[in-house]
Amino acid sequence: MNVEKIYQGTADKVLRGIPASSGIVLGRAVVLRNEIFVDTHKTIQNEEIESEIKRFDIAKKNLVAEFEESISHIPPNAKDLKAILQADLMMVEDKFMYDSIIKFIKELHTAEAALVIVFDQSKQLLKHSTDELFRERVTELDNILKRFIIHLSKGEKLSEISENTIIIAQSLTPSELLKLIEKKVTAIVTEVGGITSHLAILTRSYSIPAIISLKNATHEISANDEIILDGYTGHLFINPDLTLYKFYREKQKRIAEHIKELGELIGLPCKTKDEKPIQLWCNANNIDDVKNAKIVSSPGLGLVRTESLILSLNRIPTEKEQYDYYKTIADTAYPMTVTLRAFDIGSDKYADNLLIHEDNPALGLRGIRYLLAKKDEFKIQLRAILKASKHKNIRLMLPMITSLEEVIQTKKLLEECKLELLNEDETFDHDMLVGIMIETPAAALIADDLSKICDFFSLGTNDLTQYCLAADRTNESLSEFFNSFHPGVLRLMEFTVNAAHKNNIPVAVCGEMASHPLATSFLIGMGVDELSVAPSLFLEVKEKILDSSFKQCQKNVSKILKTAMLKDIYQSMDV
Ligand code: PEP
Ligand code: MG
Repeated sequence: MNVEKIYQGTADKVLRGIPASSGIVLGRAVVLRNEIFVDTHKTIQNEEIESEIKRFDIAKKNLVAEFEESISHIPPNAKDLKAILQADLMMVEDKFMYDSIIKFIKELHTAEAALVIVFDQSKQLLKHSTDELFRERVTELDNILKRFIIHLSKGEKLSEISENTIIIAQSLTPSELLKLIEKKVTAIVTEVGGITSHLAILTRSYSIPAIISLKNATHEISANDEIILDGYTGHLFINPDLTLYKFYREKQKRIAEHIKELGELIGLPCKTKDEKPIQLWCNANNIDDVKNAKIVSSPGLGLVRTESLILSLNRIPTEKEQYDYYKTIADTAYPMTVTLRAFDIGSDKYADNLLIHEDNPALGLRGIRYLLAKKDEFKIQLRAILKASKHKNIRLMLPMITSLEEVIQTKKLLEECKLELLNEDETFDHDMLVGIMIETPAAALIADDLSKICDFFSLGTNDLTQYCLAADRTNESLSEFFNSFHPGVLRLMEFTVNAAHKNNIPVAVCGEMASHPLATSFLIGMGVDELSVAPSLFLEVKEKILDSSFKQCQKNVSKILKTAMLKDIYQSMDV
């Protein structure tokens, strides 16, 4: 039945965003609004004073931690930024300010209202100052107030959420998403985000159906609206009628049956119809992904996003915490090969307490740049990875490489760590393989040189697309420009595969393209050695591989690579 036709008049409203994680969910909406409107006349009862002060103290503690982390990650050359943030922190911790806020709470104002009143008083003082520097602090005060109130309201809202609800939010940070997953929410809708944004990747990893980039969702949808969310098409139906409801219940059933059928593919050799074996591996963002990779019988983990540990702790983990985490992954996965990627923080991957303030973070201090700027932190990670490599099933992968120097410097650090560990009588894999992500056009263009000093490559098509096409992967309004099938991206990929094979090293694809239904045959035909996909999509991709002919895929690749128009590429993609 045609869904577009069915829904006409069968729901109060039908909205459409970008489907980010598949699945059908029927449930009730909880709307998280980020607005900082504060009713200064709202009061509390006498018996609520204590809990209100506690609520304020928690928000203050979180905000202080956020500032401290931000300050500790400012690069040495950004002294002005450091001074501004230190002044902001002093303001948050100011004793006089604190006492005034507590006084207003004791006079039965809410914490939000007390904050607004006290900040307003300070702003008035600053506005009338004769010193221009003081007058400029007024905007800064507004920013601090906003962050304070967001902390107050988010803490409250996230802790109040009950199980089995559909979350509608303007945006969510990865750590907020993790909190919501703990709360067992069933689906996510955000107003912003691109299909390869970290948030979207995490929803797929946790198999939580999600729609992103749904404009005005927090205003179109009201709390407690009944919702049908179609994570395959991006449709969201508000207060549907019975016919639509029944249609979707049926669809849910059919999908469950298909998933059961896919289960029968577990254990079958992964090869094309004409017997070409294909390495299909899994990506992992957490231990559950590792377990799920085992369940679907994946032969390896092609990408473990170790930065997930930072995002869940909201700080850089100690060597012991990292060692325990990597060892658990390596032991759980054994005998699978585990590709641990060094922390790729920065850009859209940041913890709330670890904001790195940059005007243009995607082009900033992220991935290997961050790690080499903080060698002590990097060495802690390298030591922890080496210590976890005793069973020789770990390989190391470096993110965001743009030059040979970055690989050479990292290898030097790795050798230093090996020497240290030898002196400490630690055992580790002396021959641990070191590979890199090819996710910048620069890396693709110097792939021939890089492949002489690397053991393997993995094409990060999410970032390769972003940097090749100058299109922010998280910006929903650029979805028309962000396209991994653009001939420029495909040709960079082919260039990389040829350079790697010339130098006898293997190439994987671990970006989202590896699990795109249209891309499977193209990647196989291009001679990619390994595809690495989210465990939740593993069997779907396997089904596609079993159904492909290698010879036909190869034929199509040469045609596609000569094609310049996107629409013609799409036509030739699906063999
Ligand atoms: C990529 O960029 O394609 C990739 C796999 O890395 P991430 O999505 O973690 O940036
Ligand atoms: Mg990347």
